[in-house]
Amino acid sequence: MINAPKGTKDILPNESYKWQYIEKVARETAALFGVSEIRTPTFEHTEVFERGVGEGTDIVNKEMYTFLDKGGRSITLKPEGTAGVARAFTENGLNNSALPIKLFYLTSCFRYERPQAGRLREFHQFGTEILGSDKPDIDAETILFAKTFFDKLGIKGLSLRLNSIGCKDCRKNYEKALKEFLNKNADALCPLCRERMEKNPLRVLDCKNDECKKITSGAPVILDYICDDCAKHFEKVKKLLDLSGVEYTVDPKIVRGLDYYTRTVFEFVSDSIGAQGTVCGGGRYDGLIGELGGGDVPGIGFALGIERLLLLMQSTGTEIPCDKKADVYLAPMGEKEAEKAFELVMAMRRAGLKAETDHMGRGIKAQFKYADKIGARFVAVIGSYELDKGVVKVKNMADSTESTVAFCDLENYIKSVR
Ligand code: ATP
Ligand code: MG
Repeated sequence: MINAPKGTKDILPNESYKWQYIEKVARETAALFGVSEIRTPTFEHTEVFERGVGEGTDIVNKEMYTFLDKGGRSITLKPEGTAGVARAFTENGLNNSALPIKLFYLTSCFRYERPQAGRLREFHQFGTEILGSDKPDIDAETILFAKTFFDKLGIKGLSLRLNSIGCKDCRKNYEKALKEFLNKNADALCPLCRERMEKNPLRVLDCKNDECKKITSGAPVILDYICDDCAKHFEKVKKLLDLSGVEYTVDPKIVRGLDYYTRTVFEFVSDSIGAQGTVCGGGRYDGLIGELGGGDVPGIGFALGIERLLLLMQSTGTEIPCDKKADVYLAPMGEKEAEKAFELVMAMRRAGLKAETDHMGRGIKAQFKYADKIGARFVAVIGSYELDKGVVKVKNMADSTESTVAFCDLENYIKSVR
């Protein structure tokens, strides 16, 4: 037997309806916010992520699925959605369209990580990128987009944490102060953080190691280093969230792991799904499009992991509706009757009803059992008497009532009582 690669998962029918539901709610929420779908390739030239995600990040350093294709090009499976969208925006000249342009994606992502609960090698993200405006109301709107999506799903117990990491200029001062602090405490940091400290000191604040967490709890706080413009921007974001009645905590320890973030950063975090509690991460990235050669175009986005979302929904008992699978099951009692059932099933489907019949040569009792399993609302029995008279005997599976209905009336009957 061949197994699926480590860190990948089959999504079987008893799960796929949940995914479809989440995707449906994602699309509905996007439509409310005027956000259109973008689909970018599953793989890109490696450079897109090296520049777009940034060297020195965990993703680029350790997690990418990179290979040479048969033409000798370095190709990488997308580890996240933003860089590819930024590349597409630049390449297709979307900067010339009416701005801001609001995009969303639903996509597989690939990261070579140690698989555990909520951490896979192929996982799925719902994300958005809003490009062309640096106004704080777009930051608030992006956060509200995520919040509305969670609310529509009925998710409870997610807290919003908010921070500003300033612009490139304020970051320089802060990084200097942070490096000094970390240098003083270097001996107590984990080896990975000692490495991060030089290349990407902000990332140390994100370390999951308890010792590192203890040390960084005393580190200088970025909010003390941001310039007036960035501070004003942040104040406005908070004010708009207050006006919208959204609860949040300012958490100066939130930094995103990716280099291109500026100003607003945020996370939606749950404490009911263990260590991998960050369901959604986002922030502003005013430098990214420039990094990919597309000029000075500000942007903001978020990405949320669907696997983690499902874990959260499961652990908090959030209900996911499951559509009954069949409106009507045609149960024939012989070969001739089966032909009629076959014909009727297609007629029902043409009329927009979900219809099924026997394909296993089952006896009538076993057919009822099967009809029950597939969630059929009605079972229409055709025996030789019924075939003769041009009728079916319809049983309502919910209350066991029975009616006799002519073949030609079956569609209307099911529709009227459904
Ligand atoms: P973490 O700190 O948990 O590694 P991250 O900072 O790498 O997260 P992002 O790059 O911000 O995560 O990705 C956005 C979201 O995608 C995360 O909040 C999470 O829900 C999901 N995600 C990230 N990596 C994985 C993974 N390997 N498996 C499943 N979901 C993931
Ligand atoms: Mg990660």
